[in-house]
Amino acid sequence: MIEREQLEMDVIFVGAGPANLAAALHLKNLIKEHDELVAIGRRPGKTIGELEIGIIEKGASVGAHILSGAVIDPVALRELMPDFLEQGCPVDSTVESDAFWYMTENRAIVSPITPPPLKNHGKYIASLSKICEWLGEKCEEAGVNIFPEFPGAEILYDENERVIGVRTGDKGIDKEGKPKDNFEAGVDILAKVTVLGEGSRGSLTKEIMQRLGLLEGKEPQVFSLGVKELWEVPAGNFEEGRVVHTLGFPSDTKTYGGGWIYGMKNNVISIGYVTGLDYFDPLLDPHAEFQKFKTHPEIAKILAGGKMLKYGAKTINAGGWHTMPKLYADGVLLVGDAASFLNGQRIKGIHTAMKSGMLAAETILSAFNHDDFTSKTLEDYGEKVNGSWIYDELFAVRNFHASFQRGRWSALINGGLQFLTGGMAWGFMPMEHHVAGHERMKTMVEYEYKDDAQKNRYPDLKFDNDLTFNKVTDVYHAGVSHDEDQPSHLHILDTEICATRCAEEYGNPCQRFCPAAVYEMEENPKTNRREIKVNFSNCVHCKTCDIADPYQIINWVTPEGGGGPNYKGM
Ligand SMILES: Cc1cc2nc3c(=O)[nH]c(=O)nc-3n(C[C@H](O)[C@H](O)[C@H](O)COP(=O)(O)OP(=O)(O)OC[C@H]3O[C@@H](n4cnc5c(N)ncnc54)[C@H](O)[C@@H]3O)c2cc1C
Repeated sequence: MIEREQLEMDVIFVGAGPANLAAALHLKNLIKEHDELVAIGRRPGKTIGELEIGIIEKGASVGAHILSGAVIDPVALRELMPDFLEQGCPVDSTVESDAFWYMTENRAIVSPITPPPLKNHGKYIASLSKICEWLGEKCEEAGVNIFPEFPGAEILYDENERVIGVRTGDKGIDKEGKPKDNFEAGVDILAKVTVLGEGSRGSLTKEIMQRLGLLEGKEPQVFSLGVKELWEVPAGNFEEGRVVHTLGFPSDTKTYGGGWIYGMKNNVISIGYVTGLDYFDPLLDPHAEFQKFKTHPEIAKILAGGKMLKYGAKTINAGGWHTMPKLYADGVLLVGDAASFLNGQRIKGIHTAMKSGMLAAETILSAFNHDDFTSKTLEDYGEKVNGSWIYDELFAVRNFHASFQRGRWSALINGGLQFLTGGMAWGFMPMEHHVAGHERMKTMVEYEYKDDAQKNRYPDLKFDNDLTFNKVTDVYHAGVSHDEDQPSHLHILDTEICATRCAEEYGNPCQRFCPAAVYEMEENPKTNRREIKVNFSNCVHCKTCDIADPYQIINWVTPEGGGGPNYKGM
């Protein structure tokens, strides 16, 4: 039995992303304002005083695991801090021009009008990692305790299933599971309210949604994978402040996919490709899709003479309103991407994540005011979300991703109609519900793959280390590191399935959907068959494997604190 230190806090936030950073800072500001008003008799109630507020983050520092595009709608940032620019918020550039390209194999057809949801004029292009680093500093200045290298490994419940805090991960365990000389037991952080802001497919969020049935009556969550590189390109190739979104090549019409190029300062561009993790083709490889995207003549022209600086990949929780879990339970609130707050049509979730965090903070203030941390008070968070602009924005696009599950053309027609009618058009059309992505992948036989030539899905893709890069090279540019002498944090619940059924039925798609070359099938001379090898140290924490595996036997849990990618500046 491991003896664990207990740390008592008032509120613990799990994950230092925009949702929780905005939440913690807003909570500090609200308490200060509340106490001042109560003290001078302008607000009823009691003063709350100094609360112990903490944020735990699995990355080595705030921002280290943050990956985004990012074009930021500043609406929430402005509500949080009206003078965010004067206070040094490190936005990179202001969007000066927008374009939407429909890509055929050789041409980029420039749409005469940019679809309104993709209009970004006046918004900001930024590194979200840098913004989070800056928000982290603001939180610390306000008295919030931030604990980097502290992964939330387990949710703590009392005997009535009420959440009472979180256990952080142990440090210094070797690959056989035995304590090393530097062993440090994880800490039990006890709190009146725990806020889960772990981002897309949070590991604790997944666990609590199952345990407390928070997704009952909702549609299954659906995800996409964004694969991104930062490039420095010759001056004149792509202007600062220019934003391009694309649809078409290389995705086929049955697969949800699209690209982006954002022009930043000093001739740096953010370029990436999003693939829906609800594709049919078992041989599809989202990393290869992105590399192929760069070979399009119009894209290759932009990158010509340039240099790739950094790489990253992360999933996006894309289903929106209908896939949003119940947002509270006794002692706990769910915010940001972890709870499907992203607007899939705009491919934007930063502003909604921040706003959800701020509404959670307002609920927590009221909980302390009433000294009640049960669902009775915390359910007010759901009401606050319904009464905010989050509802207006997300409800209007509630069927966007589901319509893409019927294919690109259906989505374009329905997307346009939904936009014109604020989502009402669905009332007149056959309703399409989200289907979990892993259920849609077809077997090799169903997809009618026959010979090996047909199975080579990317015959023309050469990883030339100039324009295109293989996964191992890209992973190097993600700055990933994990201590290799620790148990794998990628738990395969039944490796026999990998060697037998999965090999036969799907050709082990984990080798392809993982954008970091974590999974390999390797000949085992003892058994004379190919078996799974997990290179967990390559993992970029994107969570794709946990989502896309057709048998749902891969469980992503947090590795030792501090391990993972280094997305600083991404
Ligand atoms: C490729 C890509 C491009 C995007 N482009 C845009 C864009 O242009 N504009 C836009 O508005 N949105 C964009 N988004 C979406 C946007 O990035 C997210 O909506 C937003 O970051 C969500 O914020 P969050 O705080 O909920 O989660 P995240 O930003 O994911 O942050 C979660 C944090 O929690 C930490 N964490 C997770 N689990 C644990 C744990 N158990 N213990 C401790 N720490 C943990 C993570 O390390 C991370 O630091 C993009 C997303 C991707 C992936």
